[in-house]
Amino acid sequence: MPAITEDAIRELAAFRGEEAPVTSCYLNVDGRHHTRREEYEQELDHLVRGAKPRANGTHSVASDLRRITEFVRGGIDRSTTRGLAIFSCTAHDFWEVVLLPVPVRNKVVIQSAPAVSQLERLVNEFNRFGVLLADRQRARMFVFEMGELTDHSERLDELPRDYDARGEKDQGDKHAHVEALASQHLRQAAAAAFDLFRSGGFEHFTIGCPDPIAHELESNLHPYLRERLAPRVGVQPSASLEQIRQAVIDLELEVDRLEEAEQVDRLRAAVATSQRGVAGLPGVLAALSEHRVQSLLVSDGFSQPGWRCEACHLLTTVGRNCPACQGEMAQVEDAVEEALDDALRQSCAVRVCVGNADLDVLGRIGALLRY
Ligand SMILES: [Zn+2]
Repeated sequence: MPAITEDAIRELAAFRGEEAPVTSCYLNVDGRHHTRREEYEQELDHLVRGAKPRANGTHSVASDLRRITEFVRGGIDRSTTRGLAIFSCTAHDFWEVVLLPVPVRNKVVIQSAPAVSQLERLVNEFNRFGVLLADRQRARMFVFEMGELTDHSERLDELPRDYDARGEKDQGDKHAHVEALASQHLRQAAAAAFDLFRSGGFEHFTIGCPDPIAHELESNLHPYLRERLAPRVGVQPSASLEQIRQAVIDLELEVDRLEEAEQVDRLRAAVATSQRGVAGLPGVLAALSEHRVQSLLVSDGFSQPGWRCEACHLLTTVGRNCPACQGEMAQVEDAVEEALDDALRQSCAVRVCVGNADLDVLGRIGALLRY
């Protein structure tokens, strides 16, 4: 599965359904949320039932919905996939499936072009992991992004050696020589990891190594890397690519949960003290309209109808007269989704939280504010 890139998203977004509209379907198949496949299949049935009236009898859209259902019922490899994004326009024989290593918000959109805002959000949000695996002789270096590992081990050979082995060898102190070589090797590995980080290679960092050398390897890391250090992965340089990938996926989940809990805690504290925090949809929409939102937290599956002003584009939970300009407002099917799109356009960070009871209590949506 190729990682989804900004270029790939732009290409998708450029498609236009001239003959018939495009059906975009996002489906959360995350194993943490839906342990049985029947659960996400039911979610899809629900989405499709809701979308059928919007097809307006268009043959192409009806066929899109059938094809999407058949694809999902054909089975998904959930060891690697937690979210699906499917784009279909039968009239143009257009069909794209993006398998995502992260969960998505369930949604079917029928419009003239693929609805790519969720994909954009994921690409913007998804942090890359630098992975350094080392033992006393070997080292390997990877970057993990959107479920894929890229090998950067060549960097380990590019740095100049800082230890000249020849002198020691002549002295015949074999043990000291082996120790010095191993220490040099770990310094090299740490330096190569920092080199990759400095060239913009990743945001999070983890190491995998045998316990006895963990302290030495960590102490060789540049302070910038040490402060980014996530818990260690339980794999070593001899592991297979698939073992490494699975270990990093598990770690990413753990880090993601920690970050999510930390952000919801911050939100709760901010709301409690009325300082730079707002909870509930009406408050979030007001903050968005004032461009005060720094990051937005929303519970997976939260959806609520609302209103959008046709003149000044203000988004609110109650209509039909715009409180800002007194203009006419039009009803929108899902004000939450529109709020996320607005947030994206304002370059806010957006996090979709799955099964976070604390956020649910706060009204299923909240925002940390810039001021
Ligand atoms: Zn208005």
